[in-house]
Amino acid sequence: MIRQGREVQADVTESCDVCIIGSGCGGASLAARLAERGRSVVVLEQGGYYTRTDFDQRETNMLAKVDGGRGLDTSKDLSVSLTYGNNVGGASVHYWADSYRTPSDRLRLWEEQYGLKGHGEAVLTPHFAQIEQDLHVHLADDTYANRMNQLVREGAEKLGWHVARVPQARKDCARSGYCMLGCAYDAKQSQLVTYLPRMVNAGGRLYADCRAERLVFEGSRVKALEASVLDRASGQPSGPKVRVTARVYVVAAGGFATPEFLLRQGLKERLPALGEHFFCNPSAMVHALYDEPIIQWRNIPAAWGVEEFRLARYDGPRYVEGGYLLMANQFHPGMLSAVLPGFGSSHRELMTQLPNLGGAISWIDDAEDGRISLENGRRRVHVPITGGNALRLRDALRKQARLLLTTGARQVLLGDVRDTRITRLEDIDKAVDVVDLRPARNVFAAPHPGGGARMGEDPKTSVVGFDHRVHGTDNLYVADPSVFPTAPSVDPSLSIMAFSFVAADTIQSALG
Ligand SMILES: Cc1cc2nc3c(=O)[nH]c(=O)nc-3n(C[C@H](O)[C@H](O)[C@H](O)COP(=O)(O)OP(=O)(O)OC[C@H]3O[C@@H](n4cnc5c(N)ncnc54)[C@H](O)[C@@H]3O)c2cc1C
Repeated sequence: MIRQGREVQADVTESCDVCIIGSGCGGASLAARLAERGRSVVVLEQGGYYTRTDFDQRETNMLAKVDGGRGLDTSKDLSVSLTYGNNVGGASVHYWADSYRTPSDRLRLWEEQYGLKGHGEAVLTPHFAQIEQDLHVHLADDTYANRMNQLVREGAEKLGWHVARVPQARKDCARSGYCMLGCAYDAKQSQLVTYLPRMVNAGGRLYADCRAERLVFEGSRVKALEASVLDRASGQPSGPKVRVTARVYVVAAGGFATPEFLLRQGLKERLPALGEHFFCNPSAMVHALYDEPIIQWRNIPAAWGVEEFRLARYDGPRYVEGGYLLMANQFHPGMLSAVLPGFGSSHRELMTQLPNLGGAISWIDDAEDGRISLENGRRRVHVPITGGNALRLRDALRKQARLLLTTGARQVLLGDVRDTRITRLEDIDKAVDVVDLRPARNVFAAPHPGGGARMGEDPKTSVVGFDHRVHGTDNLYVADPSVFPTAPSVDPSLSIMAFSFVAADTIQSALG
């Protein structure tokens, strides 16, 4: 059953085994797993319920539906643009469907350096295999590669960089290029068409337009969750309340909203790590003008990925290069108009050349901790574009410019507020060295948040234990990337779902 806000006219009381806040990769996969094992599950999702018939492939309509901040939310100091889901299925409805397993080196790092238990390769490998089967994950073949992706492959091969086909969660993909606006063909294997229907078929219930607000504690036990039904157009409470009593409560509200929700419950005092150690893969975007049509908004966003620089390289303590995944970028014309530098005639000049505009993006594996806080009741996201993050961002700008010029771009645009343009390989270093990384001088994006409710043994330095249970509580759990000790160094969706499978196992045994 999926019930939308407008269908709820009076207060509702629900009772179940497991109540889950959020219906993204973390919440939906957990919900399906538990419902299929016979548990009664209720999912609360504050966003709207949209399906293929709503996805009209118009940016102006869709961003407001599938992007939590309508493409306009930013970190506190305006350094980074925040992108996340706010709809049934969460960010997976908006995502690119790149589906990497957490690399072995990262899982080892988490075990050896952060002391993680119960989430090693031996445990996760069968979960990855199951998820890949459930989401039809396969390597992007040549038919998936638009011109920009072909160029990324060619350029990387010329430069001797390791480049590989990107695993994709898709079935019968139409290669339309509207992935980020919600898939009108139900081909992209978001939670909307995979684990959520399975959860519903197994008897699970989902309330859309329903914001979880308050946990009612009795000692260390949560005895109820209070939520408000929202009016979708305004995002404000429409009147009715939903009260859920459950044996177990799981926060799976995503990397931005999970720490926020837990902070709102007043847990920071007992759990100082709450909201700390936040990461978001700040992403540098570089544009390029070619003499041939690129049409970057056709076919899937990422068919080829440059893996050469996934791990940062150091010479002793000195950073040398890397610490990011590099891919072709994809924007539609409306978003491009917002992120391209310039104003007036210079901007217009670029817009007239849009078909020939390509670009690259790199997800920075955060080297500096960010933070999520509440200030005057508002969520604030702090992302430091300094120290190790700044070094990695600059290096990523350099490598993207090099790749794009190597593939025949006539002009590379760093996308900064000064509209720095480069036409020769030998000018790259000089130009990138002086790019102003201070807030609001660039457009960096943050699509992969996590870390704000870190997993660990010690309540002084972590928020949840290895069983995903919030320290000091009997029945409150977290199942999303907030628990990761660091970013996974690849796009995170498979890592999130695999961790949720582990959480499902521990919750199942806790329920007896
Ligand atoms: C444009 C874009 C492209 C991406 N591409 C990829 C990709 O190719 N591959 C990949 O692996 N990852 C990708 N990602 C990242 C990936 O989509 C997310 O990391 C993942 O979907 C997050 O899942 P989640 O369950 O943690 O959170 P979310 O998907 O954010 O789900 C959390 C849900 O909780 C809801 N919620 C929040 N607070 C409350 C509350 N108080 N009450 C009720 N509900 C609440 C939210 O509305 C949301 O729907 C992309 C992200 C974006 C934005």
